[in-house]
Amino acid sequence: MKLPPFEFVQPHTVAQAIDCLMQDEGEARVLAGGQSLLPMLALRVANPTTLVGLERIDALNGAQIKGDVLVLGALTTHAMVEDGAVADVTAGMMRHVAAGIAWRPVRVRGTIGGSLAHADPSADWPVALTALGASVLVQGPEGQRRIPVETLGEAAFSTALQPGEVLIAIEVPVRAASMRWTYHKIARKSGEFADAIVAIVIDPASKQARVVLGGLPAGPRRLEAVEKLLSDASIRHSADFDRPWAERQLEAIDTTNDPVMQRIRATALYRAVREVLQ
Ligand SMILES: Cc1cc2nc3c(=O)[nH]c(=O)nc-3n(C[C@H](O)[C@H](O)[C@H](O)COP(=O)(O)OP(=O)(O)OC[C@H]3O[C@@H](n4cnc5c(N)ncnc54)[C@H](O)[C@@H]3O)c2cc1C
Repeated sequence: MKLPPFEFVQPHTVAQAIDCLMQDEGEARVLAGGQSLLPMLALRVANPTTLVGLERIDALNGAQIKGDVLVLGALTTHAMVEDGAVADVTAGMMRHVAAGIAWRPVRVRGTIGGSLAHADPSADWPVALTALGASVLVQGPEGQRRIPVETLGEAAFSTALQPGEVLIAIEVPVRAASMRWTYHKIARKSGEFADAIVAIVIDPASKQARVVLGGLPAGPRRLEAVEKLLSDASIRHSADFDRPWAERQLEAIDTTNDPVMQRIRATALYRAVREVLQ
């Protein structure tokens, strides 16, 4: 289907982008890589009168390490991470995640900022960056504020971003090379959106673990009981971490009552736990 008619503006600064959004409040949408928004326009799921293209805003590009944080411009694409064009501060985890998103043409255009702002409950970055303890920096009419990725998504396709706010950067804590991680994604075909994802990050220095389940209808969830278990340095790989064990962990969380999805999520969980303990 053809795209509906809309105004297209391409500001050069974040402040100008915010002005454009505020002038047309509720009717204007930001356009980053267009990999999610343009299909939505074609399907008439979204009908903005104005698209505010971010492509010409230099401040949204680039990556730099500031102290113990890697700051990625919101326009950093999945392919830039996959190709190692930005520093790897996560012991290879972000590169692995990027390479598993969609197909190369989507990865070349799709941005991390766009993925987080879109908040598809099956998307990869909200899960991976929650496990990594990342935050986003947003700018709006009232100035800048920081939001943990964990609380950015409020429901499927809904975020804490307020009208006129633009996600400008992603801040990823620099991790020790000894960090242990696993990212287990189950999808029908490789490169497709996930049926289930389990991301685990264990920091040996602080002995803290973060475990995140993705692919739930309402968006990613941390699994605190499993985090507590994996924070115990003496825990070892064990055959006890099997599907029935995983099903018990998910009982209170997985309320879909869909036995097939429950089985897929439990499979992702016990495999991820075994992998990270190996
Ligand atoms: C065939 C296909 C397969 C895919 N498979 C996967 C997959 O397996 N895993 C996965 O995670 N993703 C997948 N995607 C989605 C892909 O990762 C998109 O790139 C991403 O979701 C959106 O990024 P974008 O830059 O294209 O954003 P856009 O499409 O430009 O924008 C998406 C939404 O975010 C808003 N937005 C964008 N940038 C900002 C910003 N900086 N500040 C505020 N709001 C903003 C827009 O207004 C819009 O509402 C797939 C997409 C396609 C087309």
